[in-house]
Amino acid sequence: MKKYLITGGCGFIGSNFIRFLVQNGLSKQIINLDKMTYAGNKDNLASIENDKDYHLIKGDISDQEIVQRILIQYKPDVVVNFAAESHVDRSIEGPTEFIQTNVVGTLNLLHQCNQWLKDINSRRRDNFRFIHISTDEVYGSLGKSGKFLESTPYDPSSPYSASKASSDHLARSWYRTYDFPVLITNCSNNYGSYQFPEKLIPLMIINALSNKNLPIYGNGLNIRDWLYVDDHCRAIQVVIEKGKLGETYNIGGDNEITNIEIVENICAILDKEKPLHNGKLYNEQITFVADRPGHDFRYAIDATKIKQELGWEPNESFETGIKKTVLWFIENRDWWQKIQKLKYKQERLGMVK
Ligand code: NAD
Repeated sequence: MKKYLITGGCGFIGSNFIRFLVQNGLSKQIINLDKMTYAGNKDNLASIENDKDYHLIKGDISDQEIVQRILIQYKPDVVVNFAAESHVDRSIEGPTEFIQTNVVGTLNLLHQCNQWLKDINSRRRDNFRFIHISTDEVYGSLGKSGKFLESTPYDPSSPYSASKASSDHLARSWYRTYDFPVLITNCSNNYGSYQFPEKLIPLMIINALSNKNLPIYGNGLNIRDWLYVDDHCRAIQVVIEKGKLGETYNIGGDNEITNIEIVENICAILDKEKPLHNGKLYNEQITFVADRPGHDFRYAIDATKIKQELGWEPNESFETGIKKTVLWFIENRDWWQKIQKLKYKQERLGMVK
């Protein structure tokens, strides 16, 4: 069993990954380095916060001293870098923070880990893995056909995807230049429990449950390829255990759906599970609003490589995953109402002024 340093573990995917490790008995110790930005939420890991093998450290991945201290003190076998500014709309409003965390922060992690590995024994170095978590948005936008392969040239459209692309290039260069044991994963849009409600799926669910409008950008025909977060967590673990150093693996759930279909789907589940008292249907709350600037039309992942080479397959179809997700948000009203009260009131972000 290994010691994990997880960065950004109080966010959506990081917290799901930490719970996945604990529930499956896969880790000896977990250190979670998180800056606790608006997106970092201790409540996401309330179920394990008293676990003696779990340590939350509040800090910034760009901070040299804190990263060095953690490496020397805890000697992790695996680093999984989830820490990021992750919301495209926020990157349009304030790109600087995205460069600072996603680019400079990743650079610092790569550099400190590589320096530390030089100082420790070779057996530990041979077993060390650094997994850099990235996005399919680095590949830009697709037309009606085709899918992103690992070899697709980078063509990012937003400050967010440009910052992630930069960090991927840095990670890859650390392998080529320093023989640093890094692997990169590029996944499609995730959804599931504990997702911060600024993102499409949780935003629509909680707006519907709060009797608010369901604002759809543009004509709602933009397509994303949805990945259930539990499937993503299993994929990351497979890459840690079986992935080839220096390689990139695309991870997708084979679920291409337009935004409007997603919202209709959520409304239909809510009509059944939580019918409105006034006899109305949830889809009557749908409104169309101005599109996101630079809104990519379509993303679709070709996940053949991870399926064939590492034997991973997604377990959830969109139908099963979205039902689980909607039920989770119905059952965990306290979790999202606290966020509504303290951090985020579902306001529109990211319009170019
Ligand atoms: P999130 O926004 O929910 O969580 C990000 C976490 O990182 C938060 O806990 C935040 O406090 C922390 N953080 C931010 N800046 C930090 C810093 N400087 N130092 C330490 N911690 C910091 O994000 P998420 O949706 O869980 O995404 C995790 C990773 O997966 C990101 O790298 C993102 O680019 C990538 N990704 C996400 C999706 C998706 O659909 N959510 C899709 C593809 C790739």
